[in-house]
Amino acid sequence: HQFPKDIGWIEVVCGPMFSGKTEELIRRVKRAVYGKQRVQVFKPKVDDRYDETQVVSHSQLKLTSTPIERAEEIFYHLSADTQVVGIDEVQFFGPEVVQVCEALAYRGVRVICAGLDQDYQGRPFEPMPQLLAVAEYVTKQLAICVVCGNPANRSQRLVSSEARVVVGAAGAYEARCRRCHLGEP
Ligand code: ADP
Ligand code: ZN
Repeated sequence: HQFPKDIGWIEVVCGPMFSGKTEELIRRVKRAVYGKQRVQVFKPKVDDRYDETQVVSHSQLKLTSTPIERAEEIFYHLSADTQVVGIDEVQFFGPEVVQVCEALAYRGVRVICAGLDQDYQGRPFEPMPQLLAVAEYVTKQLAICVVCGNPANRSQRLVSSEARVVVGAAGAYEARCRRCHLGEP
């Protein structure tokens, strides 16, 4: 993309688990840093898969981040000179994250969000539909189906749980295509 200058906007990188959302967020943030932009990265506190203060991809790329419980906390942590805000695992925040991203964009901040667009049953994962609707740039990524090798847009849960997302359980999910995906494990 050739991005505009001196205004803010929202980018969303979405897709299933293992589709490279975090890698893409890290790539964009690193390029912004090369461009001498001031960047801050946030992630929800629930996700302590690998590290409390780092965003870590499945391929072990890393980025320093600030864990927060609620999206509004971004305003508390935000430096006046921050030009780019990255948010990983954005689907874990409540609906208010949409207003937070919009407020940042209106302030002139480039907001880069990465998150799951579907839950393990293939249902839209709120607040992603709302965020996708108001974003200027949307990137939908696909993983590789571990069953058949086709492009995969679903996350297959391999363990039983009442929770919408099982955090920190290694091997709890795998990427699957529409045909190979089963609603319940
Ligand atoms: P996400 O944030 O979307 O869960 P990550 O950026 O953390 O994804 O990790 C993406 C990386 O996961 C890929 O580059 C690849 O190394 C690895 N990977 C593991 N399983 C798969 C799969 N089934 N399809 C694609 N990539 C996979
Ligand atoms: Zn498949």
